[in-house]
Amino acid sequence: MEIRVVKADTSRRRYKPEDESKLGFGVYFSDHIFLMNYNTDRGWHDARIEPYGPLTLDPAALVLHYGQQVFEGLKAYRRSDGAIQLFRPRENIRRMNRSAQRLCMPTVDEELVLKALKELIRIDRDWVPRSHGASLYIRPTMIATEPALGVKVSPSYLYYIMTGPVGAYYPEGFNPTKIFVSDEYVRAVRGGVGDTKTAGNYAASLLAAEKAHEKGYTQVLWLDAIERTYVEEVGTSNIFFLMDKILVTPSLTGSILPGITRDSVIQLARDWGIPVEERPISIHEVIDGIRSGRLKEMFATGTAAVISPVGEISYKEETFIVNHGVVGDLSRRLYDELTGIQYGERPDPHGWIELVVDPSEAD
Ligand SMILES: *Cc1c(COP(=O)(O)O)cnc(C)c1O
Repeated sequence: MEIRVVKADTSRRRYKPEDESKLGFGVYFSDHIFLMNYNTDRGWHDARIEPYGPLTLDPAALVLHYGQQVFEGLKAYRRSDGAIQLFRPRENIRRMNRSAQRLCMPTVDEELVLKALKELIRIDRDWVPRSHGASLYIRPTMIATEPALGVKVSPSYLYYIMTGPVGAYYPEGFNPTKIFVSDEYVRAVRGGVGDTKTAGNYAASLLAAEKAHEKGYTQVLWLDAIERTYVEEVGTSNIFFLMDKILVTPSLTGSILPGITRDSVIQLARDWGIPVEERPISIHEVIDGIRSGRLKEMFATGTAAVISPVGEISYKEETFIVNHGVVGDLSRRLYDELTGIQYGERPDPHGWIELVVDPSEAD
C-alpha cells in the first residue's frame, strides 16, 4: 500500500519548547500524524501522513461507548552522531496485533506499519530531542469508528500513529519510588484483558492510583485478583525482585502485560549469568525478604522510565524500606545497559535496534 504524504505548512508548525528539560511527558505533539482506515469490504486503506490535528468522529462511534481500543508506546532515540533509532519496534507492532485480536479488531501488516512509522519519524526528525535521556515518544492507536449503539464488533476502524518529544525521566538522577500495595482494588483478572494494552485497563486503575497518591505514594503495587496475594505489576510497569542472587519476576499468566522492557531485562540478566525465575511471588515472600535481608533490590520496568527502583512499600498500614531506600547495583547496571543500547552508546548483540535516520543523513 502507498503512503500518501501531505506536509504541514511551514508557516503553521506546532509549538515546541526550546528548552528540552521543559518537555515533560505527553504534553507536546509533533507536526505530522500517520492514519489509515479499515472496513470489512476494503480492509486497510487510505494510508496517509498529514498535519497533526483533531479527528472527526461520530458521537456514536463504538470506541466511545464500549471501548474497542488498543494502543502501544515506544520511543525513538537520537544518537550523539545525529542518527535516529528505534528499540525493538517490531515487538510493539506484534503486541498491538495480539491486543487487537483479543478485542476482535483487525490486525495490521507489520512491514507496512514499520515503514509508516519510519517515514513519519523521518518527516518529523526535527522533533526528536537532542539531549540524553530525552526522546520522541510514539503512540500507535486503533479505535472502532462505526456509529452504532448496539454492543457488537465494529466493522470499521481508524489506526493512527502520533508522536511527541518527551523529557528525561530522571532529570535529577535515579530516584527510588514509594509504592502502595493495593489489597482493595485489582487491575486485572486471568481470562480478562490485563495482558492487552487497551484503554479500559487504565481507566479502571485510576481510583487506586489516586488513593495511593493521597497517601503520598507514587504508584500502586497490584496483587492478583483472586487471592490478593501474588504480585502482578506496579502502576503500568512490570516488576522485578533480586532475591539473594536470583532475579524473580511474576510469570505471564494472562493478567500481566508482557512488557518489552521486561523481556529485555530478562535477556540481559541471563547474558550476565544472573539466574532469572519467572514464577508466582507472593507479597508475603516480598515482605519476608525485606525483613530477612534476602530481598536486595526491587524495581519496575517499562518504556517510559526503563528501570524504576522501588525504595519503600506500604502493605496493610505497615511500611517497609527496600535496600535502605537507595538504588541497587543491578538496577543501575540494567538502566545503564538498556539506555546505552537505546542511545547507540553500547553494542547491540541482540539486534534490538532499528535505524531510522542514518548518521550520513543526520543534520
Ligand atoms: C506498557 C505496559 C507495561 C510495560 O511494557 P513495555 O513494553 O516494557 O513498555 C507494563 N505494564 C502495563 C500495564 C503496561 O501498559
